[in-house]
Amino acid sequence: MKITDFRVEKYQQIMDRPLGDSNGPSGDDLINSSILWINTDEGISGQAPMGNDYVENLFQLIEGKDPREIFTHWKNMIDFVFKAGDEGEAHGALSAIDIALWDLKSKIYGEPLWKTLGSDDPKCKIYASDIGYNLSDQELFDFFDGMAEKGVDSGKVKIGISTEDDVRRIGVVHEALSKASKRPKIMVDSNEYWSVKYAIQTISKIEEKFDIFWAEEPVRRWDYKGLRLVSENIKAAVSTGENLNNVGDFYSLISNQAADILNVSTYQSGVTGLKQISNIAYAFELPVTTMNCIGNYNAQIASAIPNHVMMEVVDPGREQAYSKWNDNIEDGFLHLDDTPGLGLIVDENKLKKLQSAKINRKAKAPWGRRKGAGLYIKGFAKGEVKWK
Ligand SMILES: [Mg+2]
Repeated sequence: MKITDFRVEKYQQIMDRPLGDSNGPSGDDLINSSILWINTDEGISGQAPMGNDYVENLFQLIEGKDPREIFTHWKNMIDFVFKAGDEGEAHGALSAIDIALWDLKSKIYGEPLWKTLGSDDPKCKIYASDIGYNLSDQELFDFFDGMAEKGVDSGKVKIGISTEDDVRRIGVVHEALSKASKRPKIMVDSNEYWSVKYAIQTISKIEEKFDIFWAEEPVRRWDYKGLRLVSENIKAAVSTGENLNNVGDFYSLISNQAADILNVSTYQSGVTGLKQISNIAYAFELPVTTMNCIGNYNAQIASAIPNHVMMEVVDPGREQAYSKWNDNIEDGFLHLDDTPGLGLIVDENKLKKLQSAKINRKAKAPWGRRKGAGLYIKGFAKGEVKWK
């Protein structure tokens, strides 16, 4: 079997609700999306729910090659981007190709990815995540209440700009999840908004009222000394890693005991990269959690990671180009089925419709950093959030 060609389709979609965090608290319901296809001479294709123009530069490394030799393809791509780095567009393309190759490999075997990766357990514990700094207290409650109805007993809430509001909103999430458990697990995510001292002060204040399971990205992603200081001065575990690119980027965090939990995904150099980071974490007895993604396909990989704790589920309605995706949540677990590959099936008609829709504005994502981040500046700007 040989790889013959590829295609990338880009589109925009208006989600069911806006997403927002401390760097973009007003949120946005418009996102840019794309799908990569890698085709073979035997008519089987692999897909990834991402991809960009840089795929063309990397495709020469896999064209005419056997798609099953994924590790070699991954290593060749990593070596190709050596000087400029596994960063930005190149990084996105590399991750997308690796994901599509794993999807393809599973489809060649006619089995779901969790099985190809060696798991016998087609389910994954999940936690609910609002990514909804823009949501009113009632909307926040309704989201977590809906997840608690499905047995989800853990939730992560976006915080960072106003401690008073943040404590109240954590209470809202706690109350909603109490339907699923007497002691729901609460996580907070401030998306690198704080300085080290501010992080310690703020989380300590929150911990006067609530037990926090983990505090995510309390300070900058590369500040291993700062992350360790935060960890040593709060009760909650410190989780970080989602904005690092590959296993090498985790070296300073792990070797300096700067993080208690690593937050990882296939965006860290594909399925191959995610497995590498999880393996090194396993050696250090560090738990990993997986990030949210279109179609929840990270669950396929998570089910084959022994030190995996739970996966983030947001479900804001990003699967409009698909006729099938991984959405069976029961008893707090995402249950995977036997669909070959990532568990996603693209609907070409839906995709065409999305591509021809006229949306006369640009998506704000990827969000930039909010003015005031890293400084001791509190409070929202006028009109920034429209809570009632
Ligand atoms: Mg996060």
